Amino acid sequence: MLSYRHAFHAGNHADVLKHCIELLLLDYLNQKEKPWWYVDSHAGAGLYALTEGFAAKNAEFNTGIGKLWHAGNLSEPLKRYVAAVKAINPGGELRHYPGSPWFALQCARADDRLKLFELHPSDFDLLAGNFEHVGRRAQITKTDGFNALKSVLPPQPRRALTLIDPPYEVKDDYQRVPAALEEALRRFATGTYAVWYPLLGRADTREMPEKLKKLPAHGWLRAELQVRTPARDGFGMHGSGMFIINPPWTLAATLANLLPELVELLGEDAGAKFVLEHHSQ
Ligand code: SAM
Repeated sequence: MLSYRHAFHAGNHADVLKHCIELLLLDYLNQKEKPWWYVDSHAGAGLYALTEGFAAKNAEFNTGIGKLWHAGNLSEPLKRYVAAVKAINPGGELRHYPGSPWFALQCARADDRLKLFELHPSDFDLLAGNFEHVGRRAQITKTDGFNALKSVLPPQPRRALTLIDPPYEVKDDYQRVPAALEEALRRFATGTYAVWYPLLGRADTREMPEKLKKLPAHGWLRAELQVRTPARDGFGMHGSGMFIINPPWTLAATLANLLPELVELLGEDAGAKFVLEHHSQ
């Protein structure tokens, strides 16, 4: 089933959490000269127009980047994130929102490489069009991103960030994420892996992070941003989480400041809160 289109959600509170953390992880990799690969198993279209089409319909970006666009006194990580979005909106008006591959492209140096997988034919075509100018620095493949991880891991430079960001429209995704990571860690134990997941009123969204904690990795970090009180009927997404395997040692301290700031800026009612847990061996 491929009915999910990320354009509806581009720039919402969940994208803010995901892309802020993506930037922190890539900026950390950039502290060393040695090249890296960025692997995106579910890449989306790469770039979204916010003023027309799907994104304009529900204007979900107003729950996320829209609230930060004119905000003052942001911390350094949030300033960094907003500046990355401003870079593709040179007129100063929020008209476009970058997808995860586009944030990675902004961080990539001459020898860094992007390996992008997208299965939806329309989003694949959009992604390929949006990345046409990038040339061989980005390899874009229309295939199942979970299976494709095998084809790029271990990465040739032995440094990589892998983002796993499925739609979770099918229940299977909650099983496929831990299974794909188990295999990925067997191939490349020292890589950093980031998994996005929604906070919904259903058991599998709560169970998946617990499964991820049991994977044989050197360390993990779980960051969740709940923007509102869960609905009584159990419907709707009240927040999202990022689970990082082998996080940089600096990430927990950065998020200990960033998550309360996001609760303050993006919280919609008194139920807004964050979770931050981490463990290293
Ligand atoms: N990572 C993107 C970002 O942050 O900008 C958003 C990705 S969106 C949440 C999930 C994407 O996965 C959708 O574009 C969907 O078409 C695609 N997709 C769904 N199942 C897939 C699969 N098995 N393999 C690769 N892509 C898939």
